[in-house]
Amino acid sequence: MRYSFLVCPTCQVQLIEEDGWRCPHCGGCWRDREGIPVFKRDEEHYWGEIPQPEMAELLELAARTFWHRAIEERLYPKERGLWEYITSLSRAEGLLFVPLDQTDWVLDYGAGWGTLSVALAPWVQAVVALDGTWERARFLQLRAMQEGLANVYPLWAGDMLPLPLPSEKFSLAVLNGVLEWVPQSFPKLSPLEAQRRLLQELWRLLRPGGMLYLGIENRYGFPFFLGKTAHGDLPFASVLPRWLSDALSRSLRGEPYRTWTHSLRAYKRLLQSVGFSSVQFYWPYPSYVRPEFLIPLEERAPLEFFLRWVWRGSSLSRRLRFWTVRLAHLGGIWKYLVPTFVILASKEEP
Ligand SMILES: [Zn+2]
Repeated sequence: MRYSFLVCPTCQVQLIEEDGWRCPHCGGCWRDREGIPVFKRDEEHYWGEIPQPEMAELLELAARTFWHRAIEERLYPKERGLWEYITSLSRAEGLLFVPLDQTDWVLDYGAGWGTLSVALAPWVQAVVALDGTWERARFLQLRAMQEGLANVYPLWAGDMLPLPLPSEKFSLAVLNGVLEWVPQSFPKLSPLEAQRRLLQELWRLLRPGGMLYLGIENRYGFPFFLGKTAHGDLPFASVLPRWLSDALSRSLRGEPYRTWTHSLRAYKRLLQSVGFSSVQFYWPYPSYVRPEFLIPLEERAPLEFFLRWVWRGSSLSRRLRFWTVRLAHLGGIWKYLVPTFVILASKEEP
């Protein structure tokens, strides 16, 4: 039986497959759509890089032919960046840091186009790939099916907690470019509280010794002081005091500022507050979206090595970049200013 691992979010007892899913204890029922379990409150919600009607056409083509062909025909070369983002399995290279084997379960929370899920699936026992947008969960299902990866389990969920998953099941939980969006799915909670509750839930799902892989912007990353934006926010939104960003966002665009990111210290505090013990920070270069290097930030030598041997160059702009970062590093402040982080947090063995 596929999805035999699902449990009732309230009672934590195993669900019975019966025209959807039913809890034998409380009688709670959840439906399934095209074979994907639905644990979603707001089913109208759509998030995607391309408009919903275009996504529907892409899905239809993928179902009829092959996912890769659909991507090729619909996105290439018009959306070359997105095409590469979807197809490049090397985006999962950062995850090679985490020791995994064929007995391990992975939760990819906010799996999107499924690139990380599909890259990890051959190496582990199972990947539960959760997304809040129906079209993305469906794309992921088609992609995994057509690739012959029967151990990928798409789940349409993301605005309800707890999740219908058993405690201490997973060796790795992946939150890649997702935590900052979580407040949007829980409009009744403060941004920080929404993020804290999700992290707490992931902590519950991890087995002792399990790890959280978190890829996210640094609130005080130097590009954000220069006006660079992320998440469609207003310029300087992350570095200004939150009340001010919120007031500006409300008056200029009529919506609150909720895509919060944090500083190195605040991420550490947040993760420790829900129970994670060891929290390690890396600078993913060029970014967490496509990491080619993961440089540990708490040690001196790896960054020195990176600067000397990877970032060398004779042009003036390269030398300027090299010396700026080197001085910031020697002064001990570079780790607070990197644009994005990869954070590995572990749940302690008892
Ligand atoms: Zn129940």
